[in-house]
Amino acid sequence: MTQTDCDDALASLYQYLDRELNTASSTEIRSHLDECSGCFQRFDFERRLKSVVKERLSEEVPDEFIDRLRLAIAEEIGKGS
Ligand SMILES: [Zn+2]
Repeated sequence: MTQTDCDDALASLYQYLDRELNTASSTEIRSHLDECSGCFQRFDFERRLKSVVKERLSEEVPDEFIDRLRLAIAEEIGKGS
């Protein structure tokens, strides 16, 4: 596993979650997540966050709010390594 793989995977993570990737890219991400627990944890967290936000809030969530959450998560993950 190289750092580039992880960078690529994380760069496409949000598109993957939003199902905005084509099939080839999705397959690549999925196989990376299968092999890389670090990226999988990140992905899993984002996926849960997304569904919680969707469940709890009926109205549109401001991007600002999501960005702030992501920053907090990034800091949390940064601390661990
Ligand atoms: Zn990775």
